[in-house]
Amino acid sequence: MLRVDGLSAWYGEAQALRDVSLHVDEGEIVTLVGRNGAGKTTLLRCLMGLHAGASGTVRFLDEDITALGPHKRARRGLGYVPDDRGIFATLSVEENLLLPPKTAGKGPEPWPLERVYETFPRLRDRRRFPGTKLSGGEQQMLALARVLRTGARLLLCDEPTEGLSPLIVAQIGDILREVKAAGVTVLLIEQNVHFAATVADRHHLLAEGRIVQSMDNAEVRARESELLQYLGI
Ligand code: ATP
Repeated sequence: MLRVDGLSAWYGEAQALRDVSLHVDEGEIVTLVGRNGAGKTTLLRCLMGLHAGASGTVRFLDEDITALGPHKRARRGLGYVPDDRGIFATLSVEENLLLPPKTAGKGPEPWPLERVYETFPRLRDRRRFPGTKLSGGEQQMLALARVLRTGARLLLCDEPTEGLSPLIVAQIGDILREVKAAGVTVLLIEQNVHFAATVADRHHLLAEGRIVQSMDNAEVRARESELLQYLGI
């Protein structure tokens, strides 16, 4: 579904990604783990077309999208959930959900509001609440739901569990599994390797802008404490 070849990225003179190649197959959940500053966010931003200083190629659904801007990538079915969640704080939950344009293009139909509320019952309960009144977990659910509304086929999620309590992290896990069951593919940044092994199929470890290891769940589980120590968690 997604194939990245030789991706490098810079901030001025400083190189943040070095020759990254990876693929994500349809229906998979794949994680990117790595210490702060390893290049994970830059990688997702490059995939969404949000980072100008990059080289390499990105193919999505058999099309070279390297030269396309973020809106065109969104129209083809890429959805980005940034780490700041990008919620409009003064708008209600429902107003946030009604905002996105229906950019799915040839992808599956955008999710109707009713389907969003079935997947995220908490958002139905909170639908008249302004963004400012939501908990961190509710904000994360809203950010995911908003991108699903666009009919995205591949979600690029920047650390959806960051700062959330274990109970809410478990709920995010249920939602990601549900999203996967609904046919949506996910590439996510995740520092919680224990959680990552419960939701994902494969994992890539980034260090100093490079993929230094690719692992399956069994390997991540076997090396959980070593990885947590390495990540400084
Ligand atoms: P974190 O979890 O801390 O966000 P990350 O793995 O997502 O880490 P990136 O945010 O992609 O890492 O950063 C990769 C490198 O690029 C780091 O060295 C960082 O300092 C640098 N960098 C990130 N954003 C900028 C920027 N706007 N200007 C200059 N350098 C940046």
